[in-house]
Order: sequence, then structure tokens, then C-alpha cells
Amino acid sequence: VAQQVKIGRVRVHGSVFLGEIEGVDTWSSNPDTVAAWMADGWRFRFNQHRSTRKLWSPADYFDQVGNVDGRILVPLGNRITDITDITDKQARLEHSHLAALPAMVLQSPEKLESKEWFSATKRRATNLQARRPAWQMPGFRSRARSDQTFTCWFNNGKTANYQRTGRRSGVVVIAGQNPASKFGPAGKARWRIVFHVRVSENIRPYTSVQVNLTTGTLTFVNPPTPRAIRTKTGALGGIDLGVAHTVTTSDGVFFDQPDMTKLEVTRKRAQRRMAKSRLVAASEHRNFWESNRYQARKAEAAAASAKIARVRADWQHKTTAALVRDYDILGAENLNVRNMTRKSHGKNGAQKRGLNRSLAGAALAALVSKLTYKVAMNDVTVVAVNPAYTSQRCNPCGHIGKGNRESQAVFLCRECGHADNADINAARNIRDDALVIAGIADAVNRSGQGLARSQNKPKPGSPGAAQAKKRELPPIAERR
Ligand SMILES: [Zn+2]
Repeated sequence: VAQQVKIGRVRVHGSVFLGEIEGVDTWSSNPDTVAAWMADGWRFRFNQHRSTRKLWSPADYFDQVGNVDGRILVPLGNRITDITDITDKQARLEHSHLAALPAMVLQSPEKLESKEWFSATKRRATNLQARRPAWQMPGFRSRARSDQTFTCWFNNGKTANYQRTGRRSGVVVIAGQNPASKFGPAGKARWRIVFHVRVSENIRPYTSVQVNLTTGTLTFVNPPTPRAIRTKTGALGGIDLGVAHTVTTSDGVFFDQPDMTKLEVTRKRAQRRMAKSRLVAASEHRNFWESNRYQARKAEAAAASAKIARVRADWQHKTTAALVRDYDILGAENLNVRNMTRKSHGKNGAQKRGLNRSLAGAALAALVSKLTYKVAMNDVTVVAVNPAYTSQRCNPCGHIGKGNRESQAVFLCRECGHADNADINAARNIRDDALVIAGIADAVNRSGQGLARSQNKPKPGSPGAAQAKKRELPPIAERR
């Protein structure tokens, strides 16, 4: 969605009115000073908007202000004057350091602040609904804790224009105007700041540029491309979550989590070395965190952790996207029920599925959460299925038995002799149960026979037996 480029040289043409500093009109044409002043002004305006946001007062608020009954909404800025937003024009008049800030820079905090605030509101609501801890609402941006950054709207080429200057270079020009009441030393009202950037690809159309002085980067933010409307596939499927294969579909496709052993080893090694540094520091009576070596190990461990998280998230996105693309109705295990079954089945259940050993519960939850939102966006139905017996039940004949598992990977029915990959058999049971729950097939009419808990087998010569025989397909070859 966005293209990021490195900022090389920065130049300022003309002189910029930085505001009245301690009663003195201050001007500058130093690129570093002007760029930092723009970021400061942007953050100031962002915080002005933020200060009008309200949060419920703390419980002891009433003791402080007296005679207030019940909790009230208090603006973040905690000042009564912050209750309503002021306009950009007012802000320029009241704060001289905003007077010469380009309009497209001064305007952008309003939208970006509100976007951040409302996505936080939404996230909080979702978390509370899911009984997860609600996150804190975002607060003010401080110069110390946040990057020195500002955004400038492109606004159909009014400013922040990009121009190519060479095969791998270009410039972005942002123009501003000094206030009419002041005149620059050179007698010029207009000024311009030029960011020289290194580019490696063509710059696509963009709606704004974000300059980050802390990282020395400039980001062209592209307009969001309209999402392609999903075409119905008519396919119904089920997925099994497991150890041998993270996700198995009823059509015999396996999605395996990428192997991250190497990264895990790197992380563990760095952590071991950190521990050792601590011991050495303690024996030498110094603070371990002051050691460069310790800090380097810490950075190494953090980098490995971050990469593991990125690789995992990428895989989860690709897997869930593929599932949502392929199926109109998807049966999946109800994870809450699964935890309960595992408990009741005790050691045996955990041993058989062993899910928590290879796939951390958190990673599985992340996979399911990605699937959930993609499903909602794409008009796909996910049906939660009770996973009890789905791994012990023969899909064609419906026979349930612990002995049906030849091994972790192979399913072999003791009743009808049906053999299949164990995960595929389970995924097909989940699909069939989902169809029953969704009301598409009834319990007797689905591919197997009888309900999940009923152990009745088809009598020889009955239509059920013929159907069971017909479905006795050879195991589908593993596709990766
Ligand atoms: Zn069977």
C-alpha cells in the first residue's frame, strides 16, 4: 500500500518564519532546523486534536473537584478549554510557531488523529466482547517517545510533488508561505523545502507523503485499492488443526507452518549469552545493562523474535486468505469446546492431538482470528464444529473407535477397512458436521451414516453399505 524511500539531502529555499521564540521573531533556512520545526508543529497540532478526546473520569476524580455526582467524561487535556476543537486558522493565530506551516501539513493531523482514536475504540470494543484485556486508549505524542515525523497531503498535486531527477533519484518538494504580517529577511513570503530521495522503483500514485526524520525515510502513501469482489466458488469444506499438519482441508490440502528452528536456535543462543553476561557482570560488581556486549545480544534476541513473529504472521495471512478464497462454507473446530474435550479426555486426548506441543495456543488463536476477520470481509460462512470424535470417526461409514487410528498419521477403520490420512479423515468429518449444523445436509443424509455419537453401522446389503463402499477412495497424495 505504501512505498518507502530513503531521504538523502534536504535543502531549504527561502527563509522560514519559525515563530516568536521568547518574544523574538525567529527565522531559519537551515534544513535540519526547518524539518524538525515542521515535525514539532505537526505533533503539536496532533496533540491539540487529541486533547479534546474524552475519557471517563477516574473514581477519585470527584473527591478532587467536589460536588460532582457520578463519573463524567473528562477531556484528555484536562482543561475545560479543550472541550471543542479549534480551527487551523485559529491555531495559526494563537500559536506563532504554526503560522508558516504549510496548510497541507497543518491539516493532516486532524484525520490521522481521528483514525487512530477510532481504530483504538473499535479494538477495545472487540477485545471486551471477546473477554480479552482491553488496551489503553492512545494518549499524546511526545517528542521523546515518538518518531519525529509529519505527514503532508498531496491533494491532487497542490504540494508534496515528486519529481524524478535521475535513474535512481528524485525530489519531493513541499512549499510554504510566511505569514503576511511578517517578512522574511530576503523580503520573500514563500519558501520551499526539498527532500532528495533515493528510489529503486517507479513511484505509484499517492495521496500523501510521510516524512520520518528519526528513521530518515519518506513514505508515499498510496490510495487504498478497492478490494476485488469475491466470486462464489460453491465449495464446501472443513479444516482440521493438528500436529503433523497445522491445517488440513477436507480436499486433502495441507498447510504447514514454516520451519523456524534456525531462528529459534539463534534466539535461544542470544538469550543464553545474555544470561551469561548478567552472571559475569554480577561477579565483577557492575551493571549488566551498561555492557555493550549485553545490549548487542539483547538486540540479536529481539531481532530473531521479531522475525519469527513476522514469518508466522505472513504464513497465517496466506493460509487464511487461501481458505477464504476457495470455500463458501467452511467447517472448523470450535476451539473453546476443544479445550474442554481435551480436559475431559485427560492425557489421552492431549497425546492424540498434541496440539499444544507443536503449535502454541497463541499462534493458533492468531490463525483463527485472521480467518474470522477475512471471513467477515468476504461473505464466507464458518461453522464451528464440536471436535469430539472427529479424529476417531470413520468418514465413510461413521464407525467411532479409538482403535481406528493405525498411527498418528494413518486412519484405518476397524469396521469397514477404510484407510486414509488421519487428518484428512478428520477434516472431512468436520466438513460433514458443519453441513449438518448449517442445515444443508441432515444427520442421516450426509456422507457418513448416523449422528456423531451413534455407533450404528450400515447393515450389509443396505444402501448405506453401498454408499460407504463407493466412498472408499484411496488416500489423496500429500500436496504441499
Ligand atoms: Zn469405516
